[in-house]
Amino acid sequence: MKRRPSLDPEFQVSRFKLSIPKTSNLKHDTSSRWPIRFTRDDGRAHREGSVMLDRQKGSSEQRRPRVAVFKFTSCDGCQLSILNLEEDLLALGEALDIAYFPEASSTMNAGPYDIALVEGSITTAEDAHRILAVRQQTEVLITIGACATAGGIQALRNWSDIEAFKRAVYPSPEYIQSLSASTPISEHIHVDFELWGCPIDKYQLLRVITDFVVGVQPRLPVDSVCLECKRRGHVCVLVAKGIPCLGPVTRTGCGAICPGMGRDCYGCFGPSEGERKGPGLPPNTASLARHFHEGLHLIPVEVMRRFRGINGSASPFRTESEAWENKG
Ligand code: SF4
Ligand code: SF4
Ligand code: SF4
Repeated sequence: MKRRPSLDPEFQVSRFKLSIPKTSNLKHDTSSRWPIRFTRDDGRAHREGSVMLDRQKGSSEQRRPRVAVFKFTSCDGCQLSILNLEEDLLALGEALDIAYFPEASSTMNAGPYDIALVEGSITTAEDAHRILAVRQQTEVLITIGACATAGGIQALRNWSDIEAFKRAVYPSPEYIQSLSASTPISEHIHVDFELWGCPIDKYQLLRVITDFVVGVQPRLPVDSVCLECKRRGHVCVLVAKGIPCLGPVTRTGCGAICPGMGRDCYGCFGPSEGERKGPGLPPNTASLARHFHEGLHLIPVEVMRRFRGINGSASPFRTESEAWENKG
């Protein structure tokens, strides 16, 4: 296990400052959790809590939390969001031990890991077996992106015949070993936190990691893209142009990028929560679908396709698309 020299009571890493309050007795405290303050220089992130820093008996050395990044069936775009953290990634690399990240390094250290980031859905028998091993060697497991959290765009095959696809695409389909459905990680193992997006937002990722590192349960906004869209003063494409925007039922987090460019949201951050009765409950997809049909004159198959996209297998979107599948 890679160890760094004893942690200075205060050290500066890039734009982050990780400090241990002077009241902490580093030499004599035998606790495995140490109070820390984790602050970003520009003030955009500020966490206080305690961090797991194992210390060998009789030594003042601490073990940085070990992080691993695993890929399943995916396009790698969410892993690229991690690399796009740029200087923040360097800061995290100082504060954490990035032990396993094949996309970024040829050095791959074995588990156990304190935090695992999992990209991709389960689409093969080998995937289904491997994710069990990942869970066994991980304390906190976070899914990153639509593939891992809802099955991804590849879950469109869940409504089709995978064997027909294989015959149409591959000259030798007998070599393709694939399950009939693409499923999210949470259908196979316990997941501690799900991060939505296709790809994920790197600042949300940063916030979730730093929350876990300091022992705080992460909380991200679950309300709709519309709220962010209005806060930013974008013209509503649904009202002004009659474009069937999924913003009213899609989880915020992207900064309302698409309406900001004059186009519709297509739901890549997954379903929002709580628009009807409160947090944790599904958004009112039925009302929006009815407006698409009656107000914007989309025919049923077009309404169905609006909800059957990147997050088409997420429960509220799946239910709505199936409700319109056989209409008229
Ligand atoms: S969620 Fe999107 S960006 Fe992330 S791995 Fe899947 S397809 Fe790629
Ligand atoms: S453009 Fe879309 S996201 Fe923005 S307010 Fe209108 S419906 Fe909501
Ligand atoms: S506006 Fe909608 S589709 Fe566009 S990035 Fe945001 S969540 Fe994704």
